[in-house]
Amino acid sequence: MSTSSLSDTRSAELYRRALHVLPGGVNSPVRAMRAIGRDPIFVERASGAELTDVDGNVYVDYVCSWGPLIHGHAHPAIVEAVIGAAALGTSYGAPTAGEVELAEAITARMPSVDMLRMTSSGTEASMSAIRLARAATGHDKLLKFAGAYHGHVDGLLAQAGSGLATQGIPSSPGVPASAAADTVVVPWNDPEAVRRAFAEHELAAVLVEPYPANMGLIPPAPGFLELLRDLCTGYDSLLIFDEVITGFRVAPGGAQELTGVLPDLTVMGKILGGGLPAAAFGGSAALMERIAPAGDVYQAGTLSGNPLAVAAGRATLALLDEQAYMTLSDTTRALADGLREAAGDRPVSVTSTTGLVTVFFAAEAPTDYAGAVACDSEAYGTWCRALLARGVYPPASQFEAWFPSLAHSSEHITRTVEAAAAAFAEAAS
Ligand code: PMP
Repeated sequence: MSTSSLSDTRSAELYRRALHVLPGGVNSPVRAMRAIGRDPIFVERASGAELTDVDGNVYVDYVCSWGPLIHGHAHPAIVEAVIGAAALGTSYGAPTAGEVELAEAITARMPSVDMLRMTSSGTEASMSAIRLARAATGHDKLLKFAGAYHGHVDGLLAQAGSGLATQGIPSSPGVPASAAADTVVVPWNDPEAVRRAFAEHELAAVLVEPYPANMGLIPPAPGFLELLRDLCTGYDSLLIFDEVITGFRVAPGGAQELTGVLPDLTVMGKILGGGLPAAAFGGSAALMERIAPAGDVYQAGTLSGNPLAVAAGRATLALLDEQAYMTLSDTTRALADGLREAAGDRPVSVTSTTGLVTVFFAAEAPTDYAGAVACDSEAYGTWCRALLARGVYPPASQFEAWFPSLAHSSEHITRTVEAAAAAFAEAAS
């Protein structure tokens, strides 16, 4: 465990103060870095792929705000768009042209989305998509996968016990048993468990990260998403893709474009707001017109479609042309291959798809949450601390993905792979 809280760094000083006014010293848990056994790093500024902390240390950043920053930090076109928007007023509570243009840009990219509603966070978008699914189907139950994260909605903070298809039990104090009881949790990549859940429960929807990245990146087994699609269609349940991470990242139209499997509803966020708070859910016009005021399903938000977030989102999407995805794919491959090589014959496996990488401390890449949990998280933590000491900032948990961006140059990748090799050697000794 780091003793930096006892040291005289500026991060340590801020952390001491933060602990008095913010629970755990942070505004979102993973930032505290407890999972890798150290204290948090307070950020001063960032540019491109590099982050500078309040003590002047510079890191190659692979968190990139946990996904929104596909162009890296402070991209000049995005900064300019936000400044321009701010000068015209920060929020009106009335519609703007920018919202229409962003919605058009999203529907042009996302194959199954014809109409959408904007929100301020992915959590809200998940919550509202579920409400819509329940209204549309007349059922209450929801299927989700162990290890998937869709925001901190009560009913989604449910965990499975043992067994194949398990009634959700609250995974946080404060979540009523009744809220979790409508959530059915099954293991990822387990066709039998899904079939059984459909046979046993009347499901409003299956909510799925099509390329789950919140237990580390664990891609779908061949045919698994297709099975979900078939079962949802067969049982009149809705298939909801949570593309908060994958949307506009793994392909212009997200995992639905990459796989060709089309959901009924899509939850989006992160890249969509270009680093400002914005998210959305969308689908066919027939479904989305159930949302108020077109329809009877209530949903609202003071800052939804906020002009600054919309400006950042539009600028972000405008920069994402075909070439951008080729570049991101090459960068991701170079990073994943380099990390694999750096690991050598250690029991480490690397999963990746365009824009996402996870280094699992297990000889075989896990295929479900139980596999992810079985990884050597302590060794991951030791390795991460050694990376930070060498100027590389990884996600501070085994159960997260790395987010390479378009700002990561081949020099950044080389620097990262060298640091990774040295960190593997240190972690082993
Ligand atoms: N869905 C997924 C797949 C996510 O990764 C996250 C956040 N990391 C959310 C939903 C929730 O989004 P937010 O933090 O904006 O509420």
